[in-house]
Amino acid sequence: MREPVIPFSKLLAECNGNYIAYQRLLNTNEWFERRKSILKRDINLCQQCGKGSTIGIDWLPSDHPYKESQFWEDEIIFFDGHTEKNYIPPATFGDTPFFLTIPISDNGVIVAFQGLIHAPKAYHLEIHHRYYLRSSLPWQYRDDALITLCNWCHRKVHSDGTPIPVYQSQVSRDVELQKFSNYTVCTRCNGTGRLPQYDHVEKGVCFLCNSSGYIELKQMKVK
Ligand SMILES: [Zn+2]
Ligand SMILES: [Zn+2]
Ligand SMILES: [Zn+2]
Repeated sequence: MREPVIPFSKLLAECNGNYIAYQRLLNTNEWFERRKSILKRDINLCQQCGKGSTIGIDWLPSDHPYKESQFWEDEIIFFDGHTEKNYIPPATFGDTPFFLTIPISDNGVIVAFQGLIHAPKAYHLEIHHRYYLRSSLPWQYRDDALITLCNWCHRKVHSDGTPIPVYQSQVSRDVELQKFSNYTVCTRCNGTGRLPQYDHVEKGVCFLCNSSGYIELKQMKVK
């Protein structure tokens, strides 16, 4: 069960001067707004592999062959001839997909067809911090510090052996000072903040680092 998203001011009041778990900072309206703006800038595509998030078709009967399948949404073709293009550019389809066309009905009347592209696995989008600032809340970062990655590329970024740098503040980052080089990358999630066994779904909070990726960042004292 997911905790409700609350304004930061409410969280601050609840914590009453105590440390705040990083995961709770990610469950605020402030982070959701920031996240939304980064997704919008990155046109809802992973900035590494160019893929967007996939969907399942919930309403299929349980024995349907595509019940467990994941799809990228392509184009919606309306009967009046106009089309609405979704966000997956054709160049990123890749790996020999197959297409599925599903009818879209409005009060029982079929008005359009939605094109779906079969995905080999489930993709969802995550926001990666290119660096961490000890004195900043998760949303208090410059645009260039945040990037949209799919769950697969995100995992790769964290496992390539280069730790994500941690600085005291934006100023110290800019002048390469006050860098914390001895921080412990979370062994449970490998620094992604999400558990690998949940890569197929958008959940899996890491309770070892509170989804911060570093043991030393698992909680923050906010003044
Ligand atoms: Zn990707
Ligand atoms: Zn990350
Ligand atoms: Zn972790």
